[in-house]
Amino acid sequence: MKDITALPALVPAGHGAVVCDEACRRVGQEESRRIFRSGEALVAHAAFVAGRLKVAPGKPLYDVLELFAFVRPGMPCVPSALGIARALGLGAPDAPEDAARSLRTSALKLLEEIADSPEAIKAGLRPLVHTLSTAGWRWAAAVENIIGPVVLQNAPLAGFEVWRKLPVWEDEAPPGKPSSLPVALEESRARLARLVGSAGEARPEQRAYADAASYAFTPRERAGAPRIALVEAGTGIGKTLGYLAPASLWSEKNGPGLWISTYTRNLQRQIVQEIARLYPDPAEREDKAVVRKGRENYLCLLNFEEAVKRTALAPGPRSVALALVARWIAATADGDMSGAGFPAFLASSFALREITDRRGECIYAACPHYRVCFIERIVRRARVAPIVVANHALVIAQAAQDWLSVDETTDTPTERRVRYVFDEGHHLFDAADSGFAALLSGAEMAELRRWVRGPEGRARSRRRGLEERLKDLVEDSENARDALQEAVMAAGALAGEGWMSRLGSPRGPGETFLAAAYAHVRARSEDKDAFYSLEAETHPLGEQIIEAAKHLGAGLKRLAAPLMRLAKSLRAQLNDKAAELEPYQRARIEAAARGLERRGRIILPAWMAMLETLETGEVLDEFADWFEIVREDGKDYDVGLERRWIDPTIPLANEVLAHAHGALITSATLRDASDDDGDWQSAEVRTGAHHLPEPPKRASFGSPFDYAKQSRVFIVKDVERRDPDALAAAYRELFLAAGGGALGLFTAVRMLRAVESRIAAPLADAGLTLYAQHVDRLDTGALVDLFRSEENSCLLGTDALRDGVDVPGRSLRLVVFDKVPWPKPTILHKARRARFGKGYDDLLARLRLKQAFGRLIRGASDKGCFVILKAATPSRLLRALPEQAPILRCGLAEAVREIREFLG
Ligand code: SF4
Repeated sequence: MKDITALPALVPAGHGAVVCDEACRRVGQEESRRIFRSGEALVAHAAFVAGRLKVAPGKPLYDVLELFAFVRPGMPCVPSALGIARALGLGAPDAPEDAARSLRTSALKLLEEIADSPEAIKAGLRPLVHTLSTAGWRWAAAVENIIGPVVLQNAPLAGFEVWRKLPVWEDEAPPGKPSSLPVALEESRARLARLVGSAGEARPEQRAYADAASYAFTPRERAGAPRIALVEAGTGIGKTLGYLAPASLWSEKNGPGLWISTYTRNLQRQIVQEIARLYPDPAEREDKAVVRKGRENYLCLLNFEEAVKRTALAPGPRSVALALVARWIAATADGDMSGAGFPAFLASSFALREITDRRGECIYAACPHYRVCFIERIVRRARVAPIVVANHALVIAQAAQDWLSVDETTDTPTERRVRYVFDEGHHLFDAADSGFAALLSGAEMAELRRWVRGPEGRARSRRRGLEERLKDLVEDSENARDALQEAVMAAGALAGEGWMSRLGSPRGPGETFLAAAYAHVRARSEDKDAFYSLEAETHPLGEQIIEAAKHLGAGLKRLAAPLMRLAKSLRAQLNDKAAELEPYQRARIEAAARGLERRGRIILPAWMAMLETLETGEVLDEFADWFEIVREDGKDYDVGLERRWIDPTIPLANEVLAHAHGALITSATLRDASDDDGDWQSAEVRTGAHHLPEPPKRASFGSPFDYAKQSRVFIVKDVERRDPDALAAAYRELFLAAGGGALGLFTAVRMLRAVESRIAAPLADAGLTLYAQHVDRLDTGALVDLFRSEENSCLLGTDALRDGVDVPGRSLRLVVFDKVPWPKPTILHKARRARFGKGYDDLLARLRLKQAFGRLIRGASDKGCFVILKAATPSRLLRALPEQAPILRCGLAEAVREIREFLG
């Protein structure tokens, strides 16, 4: 067995790495690569390190992050040496040398923890460690050495059958419909005082905010006319506790039916922490509040079992990753793979989506793991929990499908949603934009074809088609069996797996349409070989594509009809066999019928309507349609026809808000800052409130921060932005002046990469680590976690990253935009500009600036600088920033001096 203490520890730094054995030394890239490739080194997150060193992952290494995931499964950990050290309570290594040294200390501490664990735990680990040893896990020998001799197993799944120990969920009686008892202001204020508790007294603004929020919890007086409160609250008001006060009282009085929805996961976590003040006892909290995400976020035990069997535990990183997932399954309370405790770094070893239920292939009660399934458990909890914390995308997806679930012939409880709190309400427009979109693309068609027919021309797996999934449900009905056969035949019209490689010789109507769409987009594009996605209008069209649309439309119609007949037949069973069906059987039949109806009544008709518009040439007022080739870094990923609502708040108002009794829509950036006269038009237009019969109640509360003292804004006039060298030099000097804690936002990925490649080394020489979206092999959540955890690191990302960067304190003290964040002039944007007027561009740019500035100052002691590297930034846009924030238009050198002095 290898002596761990003799292994060098390697942490990337600057052009190469820091390597520590007896002593620490800086080594160049070649030497770093050599050590990395040897496999004989301690690292944290091997895939990330490989990316940093620009070397292909080779031999497995002693990855301390893997050891952490094995020893402390389910515990949140930022995926770096620093993150591991912090999670283990070993302090916070600052310099790369400290970080490298900490790797050995962390590894030894983790191994010690195994040694100190009780014999029963060690015995439980042996089968899995045996498997890990076979799989080639570098830590296996060290762990085996501690836990004792390995018991050889014959069972192929030894150590992986974690589902055997998971708790079984129980059904609960339906909670009944929520009532409408009001919440008095006095009660709400008293609750707020209790919530603020030891944190101090509620401030007058926070009390006023809670009062304004209470309107959303007053009884509705007219069906279809919910009580809507639009409340803007500057950063620092304390809005979460402000709305939790009336919201929690409402749910206690009226029963389940309150959904709190956010846009970012981070805010979800914060809300859960605040709810803990209300219900400090964990058992009570578990009953009172639940975090509900889309099912694609949760682990599917059956898919996990299949993945383990498919891997056959062959040596390699995939088997190691699955074993570490097995450890996590045994530790997680909710199976949430997007939660903080999931070892997301394993995504570099296998596609995590394999072990979720993204494709709607769940077989419900027919699944051997149904009674311990995480998803089934969370859905049941959400039905009875007084408070559900969710996200905008899920709320919109659920609302859009609600009418499928309303089946008065059954008494299966569904989730009640009568009161909403939409926090981060400024994102509702975008969430509705995606939630109510229709996309007829190659990837979508292939997915539907697979859902109906199962995988074709490949080894069989559980990923089976309708025939396999529903065979026991249709065996008694000839009609149902015929409909099923017809659907399977008709699905042949859809594009099949590998369609992208057949664009030159398409098979069937779906692929013919895609080939025509691909040719059309390239023909209409100015630069058909551009690096990123291309799009083209749907008018005028050539004969070939119109003909292809006609054929595909007919094919889709032939598929929709049998899917609906099949759904009808399944629903009939619910009545015919009412006396004999167990609740779980009813649930399965309902779920199957809903899946068929969703495709036969929503997805396929939406596709057919889009194709029909192509045929008739009709221009629809409410939609924007276009063709698109989805391309990243010059590689094509998808081709299709897309339809969006020009004003997606119309379906948002009709399908979500109008069905509620009340909704609070709140954010720090609801209104366009140009609304000097208190005009709320922009907030209403962006949230859909103006589509409802009753006007919303509006209120706004300014931030308590002293922006004159705490912030500085610089419009830098002398940077030649189109010259990557000049732009990179500006970022470098600004980041150095701030001493790190800097976020650089870009409107184009190519420019981001150009800057990153030029400034990473000089920043590293100054002791500043640079992370970059689209460069580092990490998801954006992990990048932000790393950035947040290090006070002096820097992060580059596209403009869309800004909302995910919730980094209070000194870790974020400088934000730099490469230019004014104007919206891209896409076909969709042009349609919206025509609808909402020429001020629409200004509105979006101002909101983006306002949101980005809002990231900077999160507390009374924060100081921050905001820089736009564009001389011609119009003054009218700067009204987005707080009035008191001092704005200086100056050269780069002056900005650098000022920033150094201000933040120094
Ligand atoms: S019930 Fe469905 S989601 Fe749950 S484990 Fe089984 S197949 Fe997966």
